[in-house]
Amino acid sequence: MDFEEDYPSTSREQDCRLILESDRIWPPSVRSVNRVRFERALLTVLRRLPDDVFQLVESDVSFVVDEGKFHALNVPFSKMLPLKNYTGTINWRLDQIVIFNAAFQLSDEALVGLVAHEIAHSVEQQRDHNENEAAADALVLKWGFERELKALRDGAL
Ligand SMILES: [Zn+2]
Repeated sequence: MDFEEDYPSTSREQDCRLILESDRIWPPSVRSVNRVRFERALLTVLRRLPDDVFQLVESDVSFVVDEGKFHALNVPFSKMLPLKNYTGTINWRLDQIVIFNAAFQLSDEALVGLVAHEIAHSVEQQRDHNENEAAADALVLKWGFERELKALRDGAL
């Protein structure tokens, strides 16, 4: 799979790059094999998400990539809150998607399906676990990741 072709739009492409170059992926400044694979999978998903979901990811989602070598991570997100001393009520939600080391046993295609599925959980929030999983997968299919979702479900984790 070639991740460098098929640009949906210039501005989307720029926005994707900004997310990849930001501190939204933790830990920052890691250049490992797993990290490169994750960033390729994320870029593939970001390029193809509907605009409203892309905007949600831009504003409300960050990623933590476990490489298997860290004991612990302190991932800051409070600095993204609007105002440090704001005293009003802010209904703020930031999802942190944690990609565990075991995910890197997946194929590249399944990894794309996994990232899309986890992002879908930021959109779909059903109370029942099974309903939530089904709703997330339905969204992933709607977004056009049928092949990648199948690769994820067929691949053993
Ligand atoms: Zn799920």
